[in-house]
Amino acid sequence: MKHLYHPSALDPANPVKSWWRDSKTDFPAFPQLEGDIETEVAIIGGGYTGLSAAYHLQRDHGASAVVLERSYVGWGASGRNGGFCCMGSSKMPWSKMIDKFGLEETRTFWRSQKASVELVADIVARENLDIDKTGTGEISLAHKSGLVEALKEDADFMAKTFGANEIFVSKEELVERGFSSPELHAGVANPVGFGLNPWKYVNGLAAAAAKAGAKIYANSEVINWTREGGKHVLVTPRGRVRADKVLIATAAYTSEDLHQDFGGRILPALSSIVVTRPMSQNELGAQGWTNTTPVYDIRYLLHYFRLLPDGRFMFGGRGGLSAEPGALDRQLANIEACFRAYYPAWRHVEITHRWAGLLCLAFDLVPHVGAWEEQPGTYFALCYHGNGVAMGTWSGRAAARAMMGGPEERPGFIRRPPPRFPLPFLRPFYLRGAYIGYGIKDAMK
Ligand SMILES: Cc1cc2nc3c(=O)[nH]c(=O)nc-3n(C[C@H](O)[C@H](O)[C@H](O)COP(=O)(O)OP(=O)(O)OC[C@H]3O[C@@H](n4cnc5c(N)ncnc54)[C@H](O)[C@@H]3O)c2cc1C
Repeated sequence: MKHLYHPSALDPANPVKSWWRDSKTDFPAFPQLEGDIETEVAIIGGGYTGLSAAYHLQRDHGASAVVLERSYVGWGASGRNGGFCCMGSSKMPWSKMIDKFGLEETRTFWRSQKASVELVADIVARENLDIDKTGTGEISLAHKSGLVEALKEDADFMAKTFGANEIFVSKEELVERGFSSPELHAGVANPVGFGLNPWKYVNGLAAAAAKAGAKIYANSEVINWTREGGKHVLVTPRGRVRADKVLIATAAYTSEDLHQDFGGRILPALSSIVVTRPMSQNELGAQGWTNTTPVYDIRYLLHYFRLLPDGRFMFGGRGGLSAEPGALDRQLANIEACFRAYYPAWRHVEITHRWAGLLCLAFDLVPHVGAWEEQPGTYFALCYHGNGVAMGTWSGRAAARAMMGGPEERPGFIRRPPPRFPLPFLRPFYLRGAYIGYGIKDAMK
């Protein structure tokens, strides 16, 4: 398996030390694939994208779906993210998207993001999933006083362009709402979104897909992919799947050689999270942070954070170039230092969990969901730019509809496969360059 990161970041035997996994340890395990089976659709990757595709294929289209996961369900980003079920998924600024693809296409994209949050809420309600839902909407925060005007302008732009109902919130109002930190100067509240426990959600989605009839196999890495008589044949360590169609739902964990022509099309990037022990009401009150709505600051290399239902606090951030254990430890120490600066009243509060994972970027900074025209029967859904809880779920359904037909809500520009990075072997240097640039912009803004 070829990948841009250190093997330890990709080794399923390496436990993910997330709080989420400790919060519920008794989800049933799925079996390993043994022997040869046939299906209409084979899905590579057991995260939100693959599981949502399987769920919708079986439930809405009556198509047989098999999910192949190299480790266990939710081992990838889906089981270890920050649990922001919110709008997002592109890194292209809205104004640039309008210039490039036009206003109507951009509005379709904005609507798809809103629909993605509603879709998760629908699945959770319909399947009665226990996901520890918290908060109302999400809030973006200005971490410097000089950014407050830009935040206001942004809210106006979103209202005028998309009819978004995003509301500017002053520092005083933030404090009243239970968000107090010396690092925060104002915010914009988007009513769309909520927090969830990502591990419970991905396992709930797997249970729902299995209940709908999907076959899910763990410890079943696709190690070879060939064509035989018009069918796709996916080979795993102890079995083979013959399928009419295949969906690539492997996100940042896609190996460079999964498919002969898919290498060089994605750029995995690190994101790291720390979680504290549960705090008492007195401790929360001392800092003035009692609201469980998910929030993030508007740095290029953003921090995202939320109070969890049991009084723990989760703080995450992007950045870091190496997944080697020593380098990861340094990045996690850096995230912890940022947490301490945000919350002086919690300097004494112990961190109990630290972990990192990979998110998936595309060269053109937008997600990609659709049919790969040059490779008959091959579909893809990935590149949510660190915002795939809702968008991965939506994209799985969109991929199912692209295969089977159904209401179409994808703007044209996300339907093609991710373009290959120019000189793909330079991707680690692109990331380094981007981080240096972002660091300078964040320091100057
Ligand atoms: C630390 C972190 C924090 C994040 N926070 C947020 C957040 O708060 N909100 C948000 O919306 N998004 C967040 N994201 C992004 C979000 O988690 C992802 O966009 C989303 O989980 C992607 O889902 P997926 O199903 O496409 O991919 P993944 O969940 O990554 O699943 C891909 C799976 O494919 C499997 N796989 C790979 N190769 C093979 C193979 N050859 N054979 C079989 N299986 C294979 C992998 O084992 C993996 O389990 C975060 C990401 C990280 C890393």
